[in-house]
Formats: sequence, structure tokens, C-alpha cells
Amino acid sequence: MADAGRSWLHGEHRDRSKIGRRMTPRRLGVLGWPVAHSRSPAMHNAALAALGMVDWRYQLLPVPPERFIETVRALTGAGFVGANVTIPHKHAALALADTAGEAARAIGAANTLTFSSDGAIAAENTDAPGFIAALGVPPRGMSALVLGAGGSARAVVWALREAGAREVSVWNRTPERAAALARDLGARFVTAAQPADLLVNCTSVGLETAPAGLQQSATEAQGLNLLAVTLDQVGSYPHVVDLVYRSSPTPLLAAARSHGARTVDGLEILLAQGALSFELWTGVRPSLEVMRRALD
Ligand code: NAP
Repeated sequence: MADAGRSWLHGEHRDRSKIGRRMTPRRLGVLGWPVAHSRSPAMHNAALAALGMVDWRYQLLPVPPERFIETVRALTGAGFVGANVTIPHKHAALALADTAGEAARAIGAANTLTFSSDGAIAAENTDAPGFIAALGVPPRGMSALVLGAGGSARAVVWALREAGAREVSVWNRTPERAAALARDLGARFVTAAQPADLLVNCTSVGLETAPAGLQQSATEAQGLNLLAVTLDQVGSYPHVVDLVYRSSPTPLLAAARSHGARTVDGLEILLAQGALSFELWTGVRPSLEVMRRALD
């Protein structure tokens, strides 16, 4: 653990001869702890390759919290142009940046860092605009129920309010956290599921695979119970989004689809926020199709 955040830092520079003397590698990555499961390298490297950006690389950057600040400061001298930031570093990333965009400041967290040649660090939050882009319908005038009160819920509530949603309600397992989030971001705190045009799951419920031997219907009901919605209630939401991403549909999305709702899964949101980060670093809009294929 002591060497985490070190071994990968200088490795590619030592190997520079392999990719040609003329090329200074331009490096990107995702800072997290743990981060081995991240699909971001596959998605970004596919986009770089499709654009012929052969001197660019995107890599995993496993860094424990106690090494985060020193590691990020070292990235600028090690050829890094930018980095994504995931759990548990999003607050620390905002705190150490020299400048921050409006979304990052309002949400209180950054998922994208960009490094200037003079060492300055800029923080941005692409989770919020990525969510709106993936939604596929303009939320202006819509009512929404957001489940959860963690980092992703803050980004989603802020994004919906900014995009002109008529009313955003927030429910969470720990009600005090939902009340605080609602107060901070101008949403409505609720203690039970409410009817709305849009339902968004921003909790980690649905992440786990079903215990062996459990019937799918039982799994769905159990997953929904944890979110305070019943199978019948899910049918009353025309649009349902689940930020959780996994290979099979989450219990919430499976139930929503069985009722004919329009659904968006977590992979589409991962893709949309990644494409926006890519554009911030490179100035080039990547192919969503190429990135989506890399996530399959
Ligand atoms: P977080 O800050 O740790 O918040 C976790 C949330 O889940 C809290 O509201 C927590 O409620 C709730 N929760 C956890 N276990 C629960 C349970 N058993 N029953 C009911 N509620 C439960 O995490 P986050 O960053 O917001 O991320 C939440 C999920 O979204 C994760 O699965 C993450 O992978 C996913 N995500 C996806 C994307 C994407 O691009 N698709 C982006 C960001 C996050 P309490 O407050 O009561 O603990």
C-alpha cells in the first residue's frame, strides 16, 4: 500500500524509447481507491485510438486518501494532462484545485482535473452535465424524485435544478442527509416515494448481484424495498434512471422496463461524463459509439 500511487507514476517515462523519441507521451488517468474495476481506461483509450491520438494514454491511478494530494501534485511533472477522480477523492480534488467550474463548486465535488503547463490545477464536475446529456429528454418543467443523498445525488439534484426541472424531491435511507442536501440545493425533502415524471436512483442499491438461488422476482422486490418503492409504484414513473452500472439490468430498471418506462442505465451516464472530460482535456469531441463499444 505504501507504494500505491508511485509505481505507475514514472514508469511510462522510462519506456519512452518504445514509443519514439519525437513523442512526449500525454497522459490521462482515473484516480480512485479502489479503482481496479474502473471501465474508464477501456472507454478513453478506445476513443484516443479511434482519433489517431497515438501519443496519448489513459491509465488506472490507484491512490489511497493519505497520498492523494502529493500524488496529484506530482502528476503535472509526469506528463499528465488531466485525470478523472472517483470514490473517495471527489471532495479532496475540488479542495486542492486552483480554480473550479460552477458545477464543481455548487455540488462540492470534482470528477475531472485538468493540469496546465505552469502546474495550475482546474477542477470540473462532468457528472452533472453528463447526467443531463444521457437523460435524452430535456428535464425543463419535469418533476423528479431522486433516491439517495451521497455525492452522485448532489450532482443529479443540482443538474436537474439547473436544467429547469419544476420540482426535485429527495428521499434517502438516512433522512437527515436528504434533508441537508435538499436544503443546500433547493430541493424538497421527502420521507416516502412521491409521484414524479422522472425517478433517479443515486444509491448503490442494485450494485450487488443476486444471492445464488434467489428468484429474479424476489430479487427485484427486495431491491425496490431498499429504495422505498413498490413494483406497482415504479410503473407510475414515465422516465427511470439508475446510476448503478453492471452487466445485467438492475432490479429497478428491470421493473421499470416491465412497465414500459423509458429507462437510462448507469453505463450511459458513465459514457456521457467521460466524453465531456475527454473534450475538456483534448479539445476534441470523441465518438460516443466507439466509447460505448469499449464498455460492452
Ligand atoms: P455515496 O456518496 O457513497 O452514496 C451512497 C448512497 O447510497 C447514500 O445515499 C446511501 O444512503 C445509499 N445506500 C447505500 N446502501 C444502501 C442500502 N442498503 N439501502 C438504501 N440506501 C443505501 O455514493 P455515490 O458516489 O453517490 O454513488 C452512488 C451509486 O451511483 C454507486 O453505485 C456508484 O457506483 C454510482 N455512480 C455511477 C456513476 C455513473 O457514471 N454511472 C457516477 C457516480 C456514481 P445513506 O446515506 O443512508 O448511507
